[in-house]
This record gives sequence, C-alpha cells and structure tokens, in this order.
Amino acid sequence: MTTDLMPGALSAHAIRDEPYYRAVGDEIEIFAAAYAGRLPVMLKGPTGCGKTRFVEHMAWRLGRPLVTVAAHEDLTAADLAGRFLLAPEGTVWQNGPLTMAVRGGAICYLDEIVEARQDATVVIHPLTDARRALPLEKKGELVPAHPDFQLTISYNPGYQSAVKDLKESTKQRFVAIEFDYPAPAVEAEIVAREADVSGEQARGLIEVGLRSRNLRGQGLAEGASTRMLIHAGKLLRAGAPVDAAIRAAILLPITDEPDLREALGAAIAASL
Ligand code: ADP
Repeated sequence: MTTDLMPGALSAHAIRDEPYYRAVGDEIEIFAAAYAGRLPVMLKGPTGCGKTRFVEHMAWRLGRPLVTVAAHEDLTAADLAGRFLLAPEGTVWQNGPLTMAVRGGAICYLDEIVEARQDATVVIHPLTDARRALPLEKKGELVPAHPDFQLTISYNPGYQSAVKDLKESTKQRFVAIEFDYPAPAVEAEIVAREADVSGEQARGLIEVGLRSRNLRGQGLAEGASTRMLIHAGKLLRAGAPVDAAIRAAILLPITDEPDLREALGAAIAASL
C-alpha cells in the first residue's frame, strides 16, 4: 500500500506573504534565470548572511512552494526520499520531503547538504542532470520530477575540510550564487528593518560586525553574521543596554575562548 501525497500536502509549504529580502547584487535575476531553465542552484556563503531568506523570497516570487531540509550528519538518502513504515494496516510507504517536492513541483532547499551522509548527496545526482528523476531504491521506482520542481542547496566553503567537502562531481552540477555580508550601508538597512532599531543603532551594530570580521582567521572561524547583529538589535529594541546586548548576542555565542572573547570585546568597546 502506498500513502502518496495527501492532497494539499504542499499547501503548508506555500509562501503567501512576501518575505523581505534586500537584493545585494544580481542574485534575484540569476536565480530567476536558473529557475527558468530548471537548473539546480548552489548558494555559497557564510552562515547568517541571507541565503535562507533569499530562497524563501525567490519561492514567493516564482509562486512555488518551498520544502526546506536542514541537513545534519545523520541525514540519509531515506530521510530525503522516503521509507516503508509499519502501520496497523501493513507496510506503508511514506514520502520523504525531497520526494514530496519532486512530485509536487516545489523548490527543495537542502541547507548545508555537505553535512549529510554520502548516500544523501548521491541521491540528488539524477535530479540535477537531464534525467530529472529521483530513484526510490527501496520502492523500485523512478519518480520523474514535476516540470516546476527545482533543487537549491547551500554550501559554506569556510566550514569545509578535506575530509568533509562536496565531491567535485556534485559541485559541478550546480549554478552557484555567491553570498557574503552586504556592504555596511545595506547591512545597516537590513538590521534596522529586521530588528526594528534606528538607523544610528543599526550603524553601531554594523561597526561591531566589521570589527569582529577583521578577527577572522585569528582564532575566529567567522565574524558576527548579519543574523547575530539582528539578534543584538532585537535585544536593544527590547531595552537591553548596548554592552549587555552585544555580549549576549555576539561575544558569548561566537567563541568559547575567553582570550579571544576579551580581544573581540576590547575591539568592539573601542568602536562604541
Ligand atoms: P543563512 O541562510 O545564510 O544562514 P539567513 O537567510 O537565515 O542566513 O539570514 C539570517 C537573517 O539575516 C535573516 O533571517 C534576515 O533577517 C537577515 N538577512 C540577511 N541578509 C538579508 C537580506 N539581504 N535581506 C533581508 N534580510 C536579510
């Protein structure tokens, strides 16, 4: 027995209101062109710089539901494709999120796919070339992709090591769009809007972000992301004092090294 797509299973994934996204370059045009050709897309860049928000915005713009999967080290091909489950009425097939997107014509966003197990990366290969199909090995079925289906992945080059990286044969299947923290004036605009703080407060936080990013490579894997600056802004907005907000939203999460935290704290204090 097969429990296939429940009618409207994808309706929960529809994006009805426009997600706010401030374009930084030509990423909207490139993604739209890639989607027109149903090319798979890789969003490359550090964490917290707007990749997820961008794909949400694009799904809304293109009028497609968005199925998002956050990859982790135990994620297998079956977690994406589906599996047989034991039910009172017998063995039933349950579609995984990728199968649901492939059948229903959604955009599927695999966040940090490099984290997943090797078999999970390989299962997406036939979806990213002329075959445009998903093999359900356990079920002995090849699911052709709906004409509107598209695959997007994110990839943070900074995190990768030689042992954990996407294979060349996987990387080369994707059109890539590069993301980074936006220019200060644009990032301030985003922080002001997302955290609902004044332009002046946002510019102060951007200065903090820039100082932390200057310490990249000197012990800090990455500087404060746009997301962290927004968190600090939200604490300010709720009435937290500036130094407490920065400590809670940036200094403590970013490093467990007391020396590094102190160095960063001093660099930040000089900017306040
Ligand atoms: P990533 O997926 O790259 O880790 P997110 O998309 O979750 O990062 O971005 C973190 C937060 O930063 C978002 O929730 C959003 O508030 C904000 N953000 C970053 N860049 C932009 C942008 N260009 N436009 C609007 N919001 C942004």
